[in-house]
Amino acid sequence: MAPTPFPVPHATVPFWRTELHELDSHRSTPELPEKQDIIIIGAGFAGAALAHYLLKGTSVYKPSITILEAREACSGATGRNGGHLRPDIFNGAASRMKAHGLEVANQVAHFELENAKALTDLIKSASIDCDFKPVTSGPALKHVTYYGPEDAEKTSGVKGALALYTFPAAVIWPYKIVMHLLAAAVAAGVNLQTHTPVRAVSPVADSEGYWTLETTRGPVKAKRVVFATNGYTSGLLNEYTDAILPGRGTCARVVTTASAGPPPLPSCGIVSRSPNTMNNYWGTRPDGSFIVGGAASYRDKRELWHRNFDDNSLIEPAVPFFEQWASKNLVGWEKAEMKIENVWTGIMGYTSDDLPHVGAVPGKKGLYVCAGFIGHGMPNVLLSAKAVAKLLRDDTPLTESGVPACYETSSERLREAR
Ligand SMILES: Cc1cc2nc3c(=O)[nH]c(=O)nc-3n(C[C@H](O)[C@H](O)[C@H](O)COP(=O)(O)OP(=O)(O)OC[C@H]3O[C@@H](n4cnc5c(N)ncnc54)[C@H](O)[C@@H]3O)c2cc1C
Repeated sequence: MAPTPFPVPHATVPFWRTELHELDSHRSTPELPEKQDIIIIGAGFAGAALAHYLLKGTSVYKPSITILEAREACSGATGRNGGHLRPDIFNGAASRMKAHGLEVANQVAHFELENAKALTDLIKSASIDCDFKPVTSGPALKHVTYYGPEDAEKTSGVKGALALYTFPAAVIWPYKIVMHLLAAAVAAGVNLQTHTPVRAVSPVADSEGYWTLETTRGPVKAKRVVFATNGYTSGLLNEYTDAILPGRGTCARVVTTASAGPPPLPSCGIVSRSPNTMNNYWGTRPDGSFIVGGAASYRDKRELWHRNFDDNSLIEPAVPFFEQWASKNLVGWEKAEMKIENVWTGIMGYTSDDLPHVGAVPGKKGLYVCAGFIGHGMPNVLLSAKAVAKLLRDDTPLTESGVPACYETSSERLREAR
């Protein structure tokens, strides 16, 4: 039987969580409220974005909202990722086309582009201080440049590169975006309760339609509950055990100790050494350090990542990769010594069909899910959460909000996952 995933204590410390926001361990009230209109479980990007959009509803609809978070705010995948905002219009689109057909691949690619634009607009309009750095400018797709075998290595700086695509993307500090959204939600009356793990949800709602959530601090009831619990979703909804699986990943922040500067690199990039794979990726920080992720070398040791939710330990076989990443992968960086400043693990929500689960939990009126964003939440979460907020507010079907139909959670998808 698969182990039941819950957030574990004493998680490794990602670089992104080295400058903590004052609401990091916030509790809006000393006790939990007894009853709420809406409870959001999880204070990552999905939970924070949901609160943001629920508050943007009509002035008539003012639900009471509580966010329950097992650990600190933004201590899950969002606080431990690679910091890429990169719509996946190549690798992901190709594998989705194989698995689900051209139409699905197109819908998802366009949705990712819309998300990247929406998040960029939000960051700019709300002046969110998150080290946002566009990598190339202009609307995506119209600004895709292809380099063939003659130019790919020289332009990308990646050894042995045979093909290179450049397209608009950005590097960001995701924790700062989430904390900005949470701070605005708290200021508008949302009750944020960190360090409050939910251990179970009642199997059915009571006669008044309230679901009971058992937390380590006592029970709390709500008419509507949104599971923004990503890789941990099946800890509370066991029908998702085979649909959303915890998958452990790792990243590091590395600095070069070389005095004579090696050749400059593009601000961010991903390296694929065979079709449909992502071997490693990097993003540059304003201080010249790199956030490096991927480190795919441990993937054949399944127990190190598959259904593994221990982000309180490192993936030891991956650690040397980070020091050798530049010398092994980059042209002219052979002699550059890389020093690891921070290294951490994080738990993704892998899904059996490589698509997120968004919408009403089948057969459980009042429960909703917005989870399973794999290693690719930044260009997917925002508009998924917006659509769930609209679904809660006025029953607007997800597809009318622009969410690809294939993202909608359903009993059929859950059955196929089993
Ligand atoms: C190492 C790594 C690198 C990544 N790199 C990138 C990248 O560069 N670009 C990109 O787009 N994506 C990346 N991702 C994926 C991205 O981070 C996720 O898809 C995204 O953050 C998901 O957001 P979320 O809010 O759904 O999940 P999370 O941020 O994981 O939030 C879920 C929250 O729910 C809480 N929770 C769970 N269960 C319970 C419970 N029972 N009670 C109370 N609270 C609970 C958790 O503690 C957590 O805070 C990466 C992920 C990892 C792990």
